[in-house]
Amino acid sequence: MLLRHPNALVIPRAARHAHARLFSTTSNILGDKQKLVILGSGWGGYNVARQVDKRLYDVTVVSPNSYFSFTPFLASTTVGTLEYRCATEPVRGIKQVNYAQGWANGIDFARKTVEVEPAIPPPPDFARDIAGKPSQAKQEVYEIGYDKLVIAVGCYSASFGIPGVSKECLEQASLPSVTDDQKRTLLHFAVVGGGPTGVEFAAELHDFIHQDVRRLYPNLADFFSISLYDVAPHILGSFDASLRAYAEQKFARDKVKIKGGSKITAVGPDWLELEGKEKVPYGMLVWSTGLSPNPFIQKLRGVSKDEKTQSLKVGPHLTPIDDETGRPMSDVFAIGDNCMPRDGPKLPATAQVASQMAKYTSKTLGALARGGSLAAIERFHWRNRGSMALVDRSNKSISGFRSRLAGISAWIIWRSYYMTLAMGWRNKILVPMYWTLAFVFGRDVTRF
Ligand SMILES: Cc1cc2nc3c(=O)[nH]c(=O)nc-3n(C[C@H](O)[C@H](O)[C@H](O)COP(=O)(O)OP(=O)(O)OC[C@H]3O[C@@H](n4cnc5c(N)ncnc54)[C@H](O)[C@@H]3O)c2cc1C
Repeated sequence: MLLRHPNALVIPRAARHAHARLFSTTSNILGDKQKLVILGSGWGGYNVARQVDKRLYDVTVVSPNSYFSFTPFLASTTVGTLEYRCATEPVRGIKQVNYAQGWANGIDFARKTVEVEPAIPPPPDFARDIAGKPSQAKQEVYEIGYDKLVIAVGCYSASFGIPGVSKECLEQASLPSVTDDQKRTLLHFAVVGGGPTGVEFAAELHDFIHQDVRRLYPNLADFFSISLYDVAPHILGSFDASLRAYAEQKFARDKVKIKGGSKITAVGPDWLELEGKEKVPYGMLVWSTGLSPNPFIQKLRGVSKDEKTQSLKVGPHLTPIDDETGRPMSDVFAIGDNCMPRDGPKLPATAQVASQMAKYTSKTLGALARGGSLAAIERFHWRNRGSMALVDRSNKSISGFRSRLAGISAWIIWRSYYMTLAMGWRNKILVPMYWTLAFVFGRDVTRF
């Protein structure tokens, strides 16, 4: 039995599972390219797919998402500063890259195959549907063979979810029957997590309320409040102390309440519970408290993992460690949030680290395909370019061992820096256009 794939050389089924089929993405008939399979289309996977030399590799990306999400812009998309399309890039937009929409289920390191479960429904069973019989269409799990593999499936957010600024809260608060107390509750926005993502979201939300919502809903202006909860005493724990103080002062001036040292013990549909005692009502909750392991990495066998985070331990060239031999693998790489160096300091889970790892891995793959050996290739070094968090529309905080900036200079650097990362020309044109539109006409509050 054969499975045909548009970009695949069809090869016989490998009968490991009764329901699993094997296909190869190789174009060996056209040359002697190696098969590179990349798991994930995030900061790590997408950048390897873009940067690796396609003359040397036949590349296939496996990911449930057919697009790359530009995460630093997500907070802006939730309040209408940017359109969601500005924060995405299609995987199929990368030239000479094949794409399989699916979840990696498992890896057989000995046979060099990845088991993939399609992330799309099976095609309709036309004949039976027309005959009015129950459909027998079922999802086929299949396998992809690789010569080289890059694992970049990231982590899951620990109960993270930005449902978008819920315009319903505003419309509900505008109903004539709603009391002032109800308005205060409906317009209380609770942000849980004082890291860069939670802080940026609170800042975007504050600007949105004060620059746009006050204009559109003038009767509600006095009822808004934003609270930022964190279990640590201060927000932005990884930032320089002076910038932390700068952000906290800015929030205090803006009446964004910082609730440091708050342990949230339970969350209901419209309340959160502090320390198992006080229940605080809210109209909208945004949860941004860090990362939890990807279940695929959790169940992966044969590789060493960090006991606490379940990330894949990697050697100096970003190759996972074989659990049995204790030695780094030679054909598999793990990059981004799903990995952690076995030796040396732990690296932050950021887009900056993932994209530097992607660049390094692309170069390493090129050197290997040209006949080099890992031992001769320089180990991966992360270069800290600084970290950044939006505090308001015209002020940014930046910290790092190179720069300690705040204010307008940081704002310019922030915008220029992100525009250079992983963006196609379409978005390089669109993003400044949307920023200008939001600046001149206010944010777009339409919900479809
Ligand atoms: C809202 C938000 C804002 C952020 N802002 C910043 C910022 O301003 N600066 C910064 O440096 N960092 C930021 N980060 C962190 C940064 O986005 C991550 O560190 C980065 O995305 C990690 O890249 P990655 O490739 O490891 O994983 P991801 O980018 O998470 O990509 C993982 C990919 O793997 C896919 N996948 C998952 N499971 C499977 C599977 N089983 N099989 C195949 N594919 C799978 C996913 O669909 C996804 O495409 C932000 C994160 C968030 C959530």
